[in-house]
Order: sequence, then C-alpha cells, then structure tokens
Amino acid sequence: MIFLDAAATTPVRREVLEAMWPYLTGEFGNPSSHHSLGESAAAALAAARSSVAAALGCRPGEVVFTSGGTEADNLAVKGIALARQAMDPSLNRVVISAVEHPAVEESARYLAKFHGFAVDVVPVDGNGLVTPGAFAAALQPGTAVASVMYANNEVGTVQPVAALADLARRRGIPFHTDAVQAAGWLPLDVRALGVDALSISGHKLGAPKGCGALYIRSRTSLEPLVHGGGQERGRRSGTSNVAGAVGLAAALALARARQDEEAGRVSALRDAFTAAVLAGVPGAELTGHPVHRLPSVASFCFPGTSGESVLLELERQGVVCSSGSACAAGSDEPSAVLTAMGIPAGVAQTAVRFSFDASVSAEDLDAAALAVAAAVAGVKGLANRR
Ligand code: PLP
Repeated sequence: MIFLDAAATTPVRREVLEAMWPYLTGEFGNPSSHHSLGESAAAALAAARSSVAAALGCRPGEVVFTSGGTEADNLAVKGIALARQAMDPSLNRVVISAVEHPAVEESARYLAKFHGFAVDVVPVDGNGLVTPGAFAAALQPGTAVASVMYANNEVGTVQPVAALADLARRRGIPFHTDAVQAAGWLPLDVRALGVDALSISGHKLGAPKGCGALYIRSRTSLEPLVHGGGQERGRRSGTSNVAGAVGLAAALALARARQDEEAGRVSALRDAFTAAVLAGVPGAELTGHPVHRLPSVASFCFPGTSGESVLLELERQGVVCSSGSACAAGSDEPSAVLTAMGIPAGVAQTAVRFSFDASVSAEDLDAAALAVAAAVAGVKGLANRR
C-alpha cells in the first residue's frame, strides 16, 4: 500500500512510542497525586510542557495540553470570545476565514447560536489565500477574536499569518491560528508569528491521536470550556494525559530537528508528483496556491470524474488518499473550502488530495502518479460507456 493520506493522520513514530512507554506502564502515576509515582508523572508532564514551549518559542505556562486540535481550536475561539464578551458585552463579533477547519468554523457558529455573536467570514481568493486587505476589512471595534488557519488541510495553502496577526494586534484583537497541518513543516515560533493563540495536534506529527496543545499568550483572557479539577492552571480540567503530552513533545522535537531538510526534500517530491499528475491526466487542475503551499499536500480536481470513484479505483491499485478532509469523507456536499475558492460545485466534487509524511519516497510517488493517470482514465472511460 502507498499511503498518501498523512494529512488525515500519521503512524506513531517509534521514538515517540518509546518516549511514552514508561508513562503508560511503570510510571503510570496521576500528576496531581502527592506521592512519588505522582511526582514523577508531574515531572514528566512539566518536561513535556517545557519541550513543547521550546518548539513554539513560548513560556511553559503558555502551553495548555488538550485532547487534540479540535479541542485546542474550540478553547481558543470560544474561550477567548466568551472571556472578552464577559468583560465587555460590545465585544460580540468573531472573524474567521472561509476555509477554516470545522473545529474553528463550528466554534464560531456555536458562539452565534448560543451567545449572540456575529460571525464575519473573510473570503479567500482563487488560490485559497486570505489577503491582508480582506482580513483588515473584516476587523471591527466589536471583534472579540479573529482566527485564520496557518495552512489549509484540503489544499495546503499557507496563509500570511504574521501579516494577519499584525493587523489584528494593531487593533487590540486577539489572533488565533490553527497550525494543526503546519506543525512539522513550517516555523512555529509564536513570537515571530505574532499570534496570541495557536493550536497543534499530535496525530498529524507521529504522536498518537487524542493529544494536542494550545499556545495561549500570557494575560490573554480565556474562559475554560471543561470544568473540574482545575488542571492546566484551571484552563482545561481533566486528569492529564501524561503519555500523550510526552508523545506530543517528542514528536515536535523530532520534527523540529529535521524540519528544514524534510520540508525541502518533500517539497521537491511534491513538485515532481504534481508535474507528473498534470502531465499524465488531461484536464487535471492543481488546487490551492501554486507556491505558498505545504510541502506535504498536492491536491487536484479531475473534471469529468467523481472524486469518490477515483479514490476507489486508486485504492484498488494500492494507493490510499482522500477526496478532501477526513472529516468530510462520505459527505455528498462539495467541499466548502473549494467552493469558497470559487471552484464550481460540480468540479469540487472531483477533488482528490494526496498528502505525505517525511517517509514518502520518489519511487512511491512515481508509482502513484502512474496509478492516478490510469484511475482517472478508467473512471472517465466508464462514465463515457454509460
Ligand atoms: N484543524 C485542522 C486544520 C485539521 O486538519 C484537523 C484534523 O484533521 C483538526 C484541526 C482537528 O484536529 P484533531 O484531529 O486533533 O482533533
């Protein structure tokens, strides 16, 4: 099998599992316990927090461990908006882009439905890019929080996050970015990016599913969403997932050590794969920004097919990929990301996304490009015979 669906999830790296193992077995303590087992779990959690903070360029106290990217996004968008609205009821607007992951989009919709917020959606251009001008136009005196993702999960477009964060900061508006797909590929220094909050998720990076973190700049108002024992300095209650935090820290450190080399190598492979697909499939269109894109994502529309049929045919040939995001898999609706980019619904339904982790090889991608050409030709041939 050639696995080209790393944006959906990745296998746990051996080094990550080895780092986690003690905290799943002998060192199984609860870090809130006041005996030696608890203290050693607390020490591991503190070390993981420092390590994640080093990867993000922030202070350990600015890292909140969560159950993953979805929870980190919810905590940032709802937590900041609700805390600020409670202090000043005129802060009742939320700004998001038109291509956010549902974890951000649905958080904004929840605020509208239950807390009276207005949601201002910033449009994107045909490449999926949020322009600074469009973003600035959406910011208003009543904006409580703005959230624009770092890199898109369906088409890989990388947003000008530092420029957008600067625009928000000048207006005193906290800025959150969903860096779930960017982590491991793009610089995550939160001070250089100028963001107030940033979400990451372990399972996109070689750590297990169910662990993630939110960077939240100190002194940013944040209403907790999960109440209970007051863990994570009251920002996220619940017994800490020590092994998950250790795994996330190990995966981030590994990714960081090799990031520059891997990003360059995988970008070159992505470009060769893209060229081979465009050459081998008449009418194929690359989606997303041609230059400002993740090294790890090559996404296309194949007009005249159905994305789902191409996927099935590719899987039959041993190539596993997806039609867009795993969250939308199986849905008949055309991708909201692609339609926001101005792609007609009928063409959006022909989308296929190939996404790679650092283990991808030129041989696999050469074979996959041939399989794509054959699969699309097969699906078109079948459609013509009907
Ligand atoms: N944000 C983006 C951009 C994603 O791609 C994903 C996962 O697909 C998430 C958030 C959700 O992360 P998790 O699966 O850890 O909840």
